[in-house]
Amino acid sequence: MKRIGVIGGGQLAWMMASAAKELEIELVIQTPDSTDVAVGLAAETVFAAVDDVSATAILATKCDVITFENEFVDLDGLGKIDAVFLPPLTALAPLLDKYTQRCYLRELGLPVPNFDLLAQSELPPGFDFPVVVKARRNGYDGQGTFIIRDKSALVALYNRYPDTPFLIEEFVDFDRELAVIAARGASGEVIIYPILETQQEDQVCRRVFTLDDLSDEIIERCRLIGSELIISLNAIGVFGIELFATCDGRVLVNEIAPRTHNSGHLTIEACATSQFSQLIRAVAGLPLGSPALTCGGAVMVNLLGYEDSQSDCLEKRQQIAAISNAHVHWYGKQSRIGRKLGHVTILIDTSTENYRQQAEDLARQAETIWYR
Ligand code: ADP
Repeated sequence: MKRIGVIGGGQLAWMMASAAKELEIELVIQTPDSTDVAVGLAAETVFAAVDDVSATAILATKCDVITFENEFVDLDGLGKIDAVFLPPLTALAPLLDKYTQRCYLRELGLPVPNFDLLAQSELPPGFDFPVVVKARRNGYDGQGTFIIRDKSALVALYNRYPDTPFLIEEFVDFDRELAVIAARGASGEVIIYPILETQQEDQVCRRVFTLDDLSDEIIERCRLIGSELIISLNAIGVFGIELFATCDGRVLVNEIAPRTHNSGHLTIEACATSQFSQLIRAVAGLPLGSPALTCGGAVMVNLLGYEDSQSDCLEKRQQIAAISNAHVHWYGKQSRIGRKLGHVTILIDTSTENYRQQAEDLARQAETIWYR
């Protein structure tokens, strides 16, 4: 295989392009904006919105197979064009709507928070405040996810978005959030990366940690969720699965992304095969690579926009890069408050005492430089 088409041209496609180059594979991307970061690394670009099906038909003529960095696509439209998609469209179908995704998981017997459709500004039977209300489609980075604490907030939300189809679910008082990156290759082999912890603030991912304190039982449960899911979907590709781990020992599935995921960025430096390389391998029909850690541990910190500006934040990036074993990735986007502009992965020596404390301290050090 020589050329892979990618729908989307943001940082995920950009990191895919670097991985593809190492495997001597070219990427052709479909993205609307010539300033999108992946455009510079792509062999060719089809400039069009990600849900422009006629543009994807053109993309299909320029590559052997098409994959996704973005799931805000027109699935029905894609089904009508002559192209090979990996993961296949059938694997994406139950996942793109958060309600059908929850139904799919429940039918598969995987544990999920209690959920229902929100049809009016009343709680459905069986729910108590606080609850979480989510737009069924096109939510990302917490956009479209609302923690609702009382009736007046629910009414206000309903009045503000009268036409948005919503899902409602129980508020899970989790102990921590975990993430599983799972990959399945063309021959059906499944690999699961080391289980990670993610930390969100205001529903946006801020930090990701490798873990040294998860029980074997929880690790096994997370791994099983990842493999059951990717096998049941008959998927080929890389999936990011977000989980809630509760104090009483339950692991619930929060969300599945049918693509590479922010929680897996640290695999670039911390694992033998990055999630991006793994996706290229899976889609190109190559054998999958080892997901094993090649270092003691790692922490990844997202560099979120803290102002609307044209600045490239070079000085701060240089200061963060000067932290020992830090690897800064900069997406070259214009800064807007809350936007993911880049990330830093810091590798950590776990042989020292208090590995987790060290990881937290390094994350804080990077964030202090970034946000001060
Ligand atoms: P998005 O698709 O925008 O990433 P998510 O559904 O993953 O939205 O939610 C973002 C974050 O909001 C989660 O990582 C978690 O911190 C919080 N969250 C989401 N659902 C729940 C829930 N049912 N209970 C408690 N917190 C939640």
